[in-house]
Amino acid sequence: MSESNGSIFEDAIKRLDKAFEYANIDPEALEKLKYPKAVFQVSIPVRMDDGSLRVFQGARVRYNDTRGPTKGGIRYHPDVNIEEVKALAFWMTCKCAVVGIPYGGGKGGIVVNPKELSKLELERLSRGFIQQIADFIGPETDIPAPDVYTNAMIMGWMMDEYSKIKRQHTPAVITGKPIPLGGSLGRDDATGRGAYYCIKQLEKHRQWKPSEITVAIQGFGNAGQHFARLMHKDGYKIVAVSDSRGGIYNATGFDVPSLIHAKNETRQLKAVYCEGSVCEAVPADTITNAELLELDVDILVPAAMENQITEENVSRIKAGVLCEIANGPTTSTADEILAAAGKLVIPDILANAGGVTVSYFEWVQNKAGYYWPVEEVHQKLETIMTREFGAVYAIMEQHKISMRTAAYTHALTRIGEAIASQGTSTYFAKA
Ligand code: NAD
Repeated sequence: MSESNGSIFEDAIKRLDKAFEYANIDPEALEKLKYPKAVFQVSIPVRMDDGSLRVFQGARVRYNDTRGPTKGGIRYHPDVNIEEVKALAFWMTCKCAVVGIPYGGGKGGIVVNPKELSKLELERLSRGFIQQIADFIGPETDIPAPDVYTNAMIMGWMMDEYSKIKRQHTPAVITGKPIPLGGSLGRDDATGRGAYYCIKQLEKHRQWKPSEITVAIQGFGNAGQHFARLMHKDGYKIVAVSDSRGGIYNATGFDVPSLIHAKNETRQLKAVYCEGSVCEAVPADTITNAELLELDVDILVPAAMENQITEENVSRIKAGVLCEIANGPTTSTADEILAAAGKLVIPDILANAGGVTVSYFEWVQNKAGYYWPVEEVHQKLETIMTREFGAVYAIMEQHKISMRTAAYTHALTRIGEAIASQGTSTYFAKA
């Protein structure tokens, strides 16, 4: 796997230094958090349907496991590189600490465009990856999950392969599985729902009336759609959404269920305004993704990819609140400019933590062999998101810092306390 694009990892860990000022932890804990615990790179030979052999490059990073087994998704993408996987594993470490679940952070990736593979090739690749990393992962060491271009079926294959290798049924080795294979109810909408619970708390602080609040969402996939659905149900005005091909805008707000129906029927948002009956039901203007980010709305929700708000476009961002469902959508330079402009950014490590929280619930249910109704999953998720949003908000107000720095401070305090519990230089100097 390539080592190019070193900046994304370096940019990611820059945020630690800032939070360190407020976290009151031992400097050794900070030093430890600047490096991944283990990086494992593998080659995966796959027999293709035409009889030829292709060798794919993959990696799994276990970033820090002081608070528990490492946890994080597996990304299939042609451009994934080791620095990106390290950054994502670092973010997972902080995210699990922010919401107080007993995990460290990890991440994996394979350099592949899955759209170019047949389903059988994809299955052989996924099982092949598990054959290579089976001794590196496990329910008590490192627990993968889906990420970009991986899904529940792939998790099912991976769990099955791991169980065959270990010769025992091991559902807790992986989360995001299909429900019949031990997946949790409520996992499908957990990320969007977690972000929605954050907005509900902000609504109280700002005394918002939802019908007066406009929202633009970049990325109308799993997380973006569920977030839009829940917000729309509460009366928020979803005025713009986009996918990789472009976006649509309607100043009076969309009927979100129609949008979701059209997107899922046709796979593209464009069909919403140009095809038959749906076209009449949902009038809209076309906009580009760049235009969507710069709309004059109350809440902007990046829910697609990394590095969308940069030094180049940050001065044109008009929204007063940003809710980062995507991982790393704002560069650290852009982040400082947003903070100086008085904008509130609900950072990714808090806003999208609903996904890993319900993954944790799935792992707990797998280990207990006892499964919860969906209402219980929602209620437990709401309790955690509400509690941790409140804690981060209080740190932000206490120190008059950005919500991102507050979230990192909250995470760093928890991780730092765990590292210090194993002994610091002060303790050993006295011994
Ligand atoms: P997804 O693949 O279901 O959807 C991604 C959406 O983004 C699609 O609509 C796609 O068309 C769109 N998109 C891709 N490139 C784009 C571009 N350049 N501009 C605009 N739109 C673009 O993915 P998802 O699961 O919804 O994840 C979205 C983001 O949320 C990712 O950054 C992911 O890492 C993050 N996230 C997801 C989860 C989860 O549980 N699904 C959890 C935590 C974080």
